[in-house]
Amino acid sequence: MPPSECPLPTVRISPRGTTRVNSGHVWVYRSDLSSVDDIPPGSLVTVTDQRGRMLGTALYSSSSQIAIRMLSHSPVSDLHSLLRQRIADALAYRKLIVRDTDACRLVFSEADFLPGLIVDRYGDLLSIQILTQGFDCNPVRETVISELRQRVNPAAIVERVDARVRELETLPSRASGLVYGDKTKTTVTMNGVHFQYDALEGQKTGAFLDQRENYAAAAQYAHGSALDVFCYQGGFALHVAKVCDQVTGVDSSRPALERADQNSALNSREIEWIEGNAFDLLKDYSASRRGYDTVVLDPPAFAKTKRDLDSAIRGYKELNLRALKMLQSGGILVTCSCSYHVSQSSFLEMLTSAAVDAHRTVRVLEVRGQAKDHPVLLNIPETQYLKCIICNVS
Ligand code: SAH
Repeated sequence: MPPSECPLPTVRISPRGTTRVNSGHVWVYRSDLSSVDDIPPGSLVTVTDQRGRMLGTALYSSSSQIAIRMLSHSPVSDLHSLLRQRIADALAYRKLIVRDTDACRLVFSEADFLPGLIVDRYGDLLSIQILTQGFDCNPVRETVISELRQRVNPAAIVERVDARVRELETLPSRASGLVYGDKTKTTVTMNGVHFQYDALEGQKTGAFLDQRENYAAAAQYAHGSALDVFCYQGGFALHVAKVCDQVTGVDSSRPALERADQNSALNSREIEWIEGNAFDLLKDYSASRRGYDTVVLDPPAFAKTKRDLDSAIRGYKELNLRALKMLQSGGILVTCSCSYHVSQSSFLEMLTSAAVDAHRTVRVLEVRGQAKDHPVLLNIPETQYLKCIICNVS
């Protein structure tokens, strides 16, 4: 980072990029850059329109298609104090809206105006992910880590590395590991349900914290016999087990199910865990006319890009159709999609078509999204990605 007295490198952007920035979005694509002179990866830059009028200050990526991530609409004289203030704001927001948990997302990248930084809290541990060149450079990392230590006082901080993202950002490869302290395991409690946590294991930063509020919502309607499909470490299954007579969880990942089993013991619940392919299992179960009172569907993102949209919708429809056929009258379907590219309206349209084909009446009880600690910013549609629809099926 250049010292604050040095003028920052300037990036001029196209009228289309300018309109985007003026509408409050924070991304400018490489195709919208008009001039870039040899700017070092991750630099703080001044962004201007075609006529050279200043639009703000941003972090530059030399390799990502998202070349510019805006930090501010004003000049930034001290990046480090801006970052410290943004972290403080993100923490203050969580204080206002997070309840009944000691695990939540503290910083959600663009949604907290810290583009490229994710910080999740799991009890006394913090798990961080760095996704952009701007946040990967040493002085920035150090500011982030020291600010988190000061404000949250965790026992340890672990960095989780997403190898694919680092490759896309042409960042040197790095292993996941402790960046502060020496503790990597703990137990967390969400909505009164306990989970074991190992900061160096599992998918994402270890858990799907974005579903936390949906777990509690699902447990309000769940009853009878329940099937949690794509259960991972048992998030939904453990929550509905409080109110259901019998619960089965299905996932293709054995390590996830081993952890799920430890979690059910921790909560003194009997849950059946099945390792298998959800598509095959649902096909077999619906063919053999198995019935459930509650079905949860929470598959991985089927549409990673816009191009996958049609096949993603077909995948969602197959799962939802089979689940609808298996539900007893008065049953509850909790159906989710974490694909940003599948909009809420396309997801509801898919569900409507599945309901017609299954000859079932579906009453929508709740249309939900991600937990509030994963903020949705109106100006940045990409921040809204999770859909969770809870329905009554007759
Ligand atoms: N409901 C979980 C999160 C699910 S994430 C929670 O709240 O914690 C998606 C899960 O789907 C992952 O655990 C992954 O292992 C599993 N998965 C992916 N493809 C699968 C398949 N074909 N059959 C079964 N499980 C699958």
